[in-house]
Amino acid sequence: MTNLLDFDLDGLTRYFAEIGEKPFRAKQVMRWMHQRGADDFGQMSDLAKSLREKLVMSAEIQPPRILSEHRSEDGTVKWLIDTGTGNAVETVFIPENDRGTLCVSSQVGCALACTFCSTGYQGFNRNLSASEIIGQVWLANRALGKDPKGERIISNVVMMGMGEPLTNFDNVVTALHIMLDDHAYGLSRRRVTVSTSGVVPAMDRLGEACPVALAVSLHAPNDPLRDVLVPINKKYPLRELMSACQRYLAVAPRDFITFEYVMLAGVNDSVAQAQELIALTRDVPSKFNLIPFNPFPQAGYARSKPDAIRRFRETLQEAGRIVTTRKTRGDDIDAACGQLAGKVQDKTKRTQRKEEVTL
Ligand code: SAH
Ligand code: SF4
Repeated sequence: MTNLLDFDLDGLTRYFAEIGEKPFRAKQVMRWMHQRGADDFGQMSDLAKSLREKLVMSAEIQPPRILSEHRSEDGTVKWLIDTGTGNAVETVFIPENDRGTLCVSSQVGCALACTFCSTGYQGFNRNLSASEIIGQVWLANRALGKDPKGERIISNVVMMGMGEPLTNFDNVVTALHIMLDDHAYGLSRRRVTVSTSGVVPAMDRLGEACPVALAVSLHAPNDPLRDVLVPINKKYPLRELMSACQRYLAVAPRDFITFEYVMLAGVNDSVAQAQELIALTRDVPSKFNLIPFNPFPQAGYARSKPDAIRRFRETLQEAGRIVTTRKTRGDDIDAACGQLAGKVQDKTKRTQRKEEVTL
């Protein structure tokens, strides 16, 4: 059976051509699947009966299965999504006054082993398929419904759940296409954000394939510290990362990169480090998003004190930088940044190697 949730419009059009159907059928089916949440060809009343029968024989609309749903006091919702063989990923919905953001996972675990990240601590199992990535949007959309005005509740998507999206490039790009497609979710490129720890060659490819908004997880103002916190820095150090950001902005719809910076007490939160950060990012139009560290059981770090975060923020602001400090949401249900653990059966023995890293 072919799972039609694995296809963006191009893929679905090719599939329909293979079964001898016209391209406009692909658009119709896209709308049924993603705008009306249909998972049954019998519902698709504007398709000829013969086509519906053909589809029933050869295809399916199969989102992943929800294992559990938790609702936080602050309205945040977290779903645990079954990815088979004892593994699971997490999807989080964060309501705010002017938007509703869905935080989507791209991998079961993550191989990049950032030392302050619970997902990284768990090691890597596998990439999610396109249907498992867009399936998170599909499921959340169905669970949340529409607001009283009849508008969709999910207005923004961030690829900031479990995994490094740019090491699962093709499936992530297929899912991004579906998010942006007017026959599916119709989100604007500004409202879809990929967050990366800095996989430089894939940043260039994303700029060509699907230039959505880009967030880069910086977390350190120099290579020696970033080598420890974000080990992929050893492969793509800061100079290369800054150039890649500039190249991305040359093709992207936005005029800035968002730099994410987790605030770790006594590790990366001094005023001197803020100054170093200003110098580092001088030539990259950017905004900063400071993320107070969210602890998890094995973490050897502590969250920066509010005063340290304030001083760090003010130092950046005095240099003319735009800075937001991320509010912690959903931490009562372990849904805050970096707390997403899901269930990962590590295939890489990454966890053992990680314990050898010392600060
Ligand atoms: N792999 C991608 C996207 C997922 S993580 C990336 O690294 O960018 C989303 C954001 O949460 C990243 O900026 C990540 O560094 C941050 N993060 C990870 N662990 C965290 C923690 N324990 N507390 C706060 N933020 C964390
Ligand atoms: Fe992977 Fe991102 Fe976590 Fe690093 S911060 S381990 S890249 S999910």
